[in-house]
Amino acid sequence: MSQPKKLVLLGATGSIGDSTLKVIRKHPDKIQLVGISAHQQAEKLLGIAEEFKVPHACLTSEKSPKPSFPGYTKLQTGENSLEELASLQDADIIVVAVVGAVGLMPTLAALKAGKDVVLANKESLVMGGEIVTKTAEKYGAKIIPADSEHNAVFQCIQGQPEKSVESIILTASGGPFRDLPLNQLDKVTIEQALRHPNWSMGKKITVDSATMANKGLELIEARWLFHVDPKQLEVVIHPTSIVHAIVRFIDGCCLAEMTPPSMTFAMQNAILFPERHEGVEPSLDFSQPLDLSFSQPSLERYPCLRLAQKSMETGNSAPLVFNAANEIAVDAFLRNRIGFLDIPRIIENTLNESEFISTESIEALLSSDAESRRIAATQIDLLA
Ligand code: NDP
Ligand code: MG
Repeated sequence: MSQPKKLVLLGATGSIGDSTLKVIRKHPDKIQLVGISAHQQAEKLLGIAEEFKVPHACLTSEKSPKPSFPGYTKLQTGENSLEELASLQDADIIVVAVVGAVGLMPTLAALKAGKDVVLANKESLVMGGEIVTKTAEKYGAKIIPADSEHNAVFQCIQGQPEKSVESIILTASGGPFRDLPLNQLDKVTIEQALRHPNWSMGKKITVDSATMANKGLELIEARWLFHVDPKQLEVVIHPTSIVHAIVRFIDGCCLAEMTPPSMTFAMQNAILFPERHEGVEPSLDFSQPLDLSFSQPSLERYPCLRLAQKSMETGNSAPLVFNAANEIAVDAFLRNRIGFLDIPRIIENTLNESEFISTESIEALLSSDAESRRIAATQIDLLA
């Protein structure tokens, strides 16, 4: 029997962290957890360290009170420790499941150390797609997509001839406000935005799903992962979230990947790739009626999708500005400082006020990210 793969899980206390731990519990002979991180949920991190006897742990928030960890766990603190954990000599796979721009540097560190990266954190590719993909190439490291749509595409293109993809179609549930009259969108509450019809996820991505900024980020993510032109990418609304993506080939044939809406399927596929083993949860039941309907998203209802598409077409650092402004705006919405429809307003105003730079240097990326956040924060002060 082969040795278990040694896995580091950045963002172990989040929603993707939970799904990953379910996969590890199911396959303890195939995966060994050697590193975990959390930002502030120290007690939850401790529980994971104890359950899996994890040798390395990291708590990125310096402010969080630290419980005492068992002797076999070496605990580090501070944001830089994420990069150290991402390049841990002993690890084979790094799962990047932290939320937001903070995912970029550990993703790069893991790739530079030649590790396979299972990437859930889409923000890192949106910010630094060019650098991230070039770094993976240079160091011979693999990026295996964990986002359900991208994992679906990844599965559909295995073994297909190069240049045979005509287009990639990402599905979107449309979120909780898919059928809400447009004139009621400005009144929606945080609680309503967090009530996703199909998926259970972290707060930031749940709001991103309600605005469909998430699907915009995913278009940009797909562009880098699959080396396609923005014109080859489409989005369709598919309310039941059973089909995750469809790949249309040049001969007209379309392949789709389907599972119930739970991240354990994509996480297991990405972590155990290229092997397949019994899943954590039951598969689809085709003896019951399945709704497989598709429709076009309205850009009037989802202005964040329009802004993401525009920033992808503009290129250079425009997607980075989109991402930074979105992170700041979603955070302000979750703190009740701005309304739901202010999210696209802040993104649009920030894009209008920004200069787009080339994305080849990491220093330039980080400084443009900081500047975009500053502009977005000013926009919030004007509105709040
Ligand atoms: P959660 O908010 O549930 O979890 C985020 C994780 O990141 C937690 O472990 C959290 O620690 C940690 N974290 C938060 N802030 C920081 C920080 N500043 N520095 C370091 N670590 C931090 O998010 P999700 O699991 O939902 O999403 C994680 C990523 O995966 C996102 O990029 C998201 O877009 C992507 N994704 C998520 C999907 C899902 O189904 N949830 C599906 C596809 C992609 P703590 O708990 O201590 O705060
Ligand atoms: Mg997704």
